[in-house]
Amino acid sequence: MMNKQQEKFFICKCDCTSHLIRVTYCKWDNGDEEFVVSPILNHYLGFWGRLKIAFKYLFGILHDDWAYDTVLLSRTQAQELRDFINSTILVNENIR
Ligand SMILES: [Zn+2]
Repeated sequence: MMNKQQEKFFICKCDCTSHLIRVTYCKWDNGDEEFVVSPILNHYLGFWGRLKIAFKYLFGILHDDWAYDTVLLSRTQAQELRDFINSTILVNENIR
């Protein structure tokens, strides 16, 4: 069972709000800790639109709108990520 969770969102440096990651810090009752980095994909297309893109993906046909594999962090965002990780580690080291 998880007893503590903190999260922070980072939007890509290109300012496309479809390029988004969520960084979550989880601390479990047994003492285990995890940082989870999750890409967030917006579903702006309907079912058939997504199926069409999925079909192209199956056959390796490139499409500009179907996905992303990179989130660019600015220097400030990288520092925010560092500070977020440091704050969760430092806070929880003090709890132990
Ligand atoms: Zn981007």
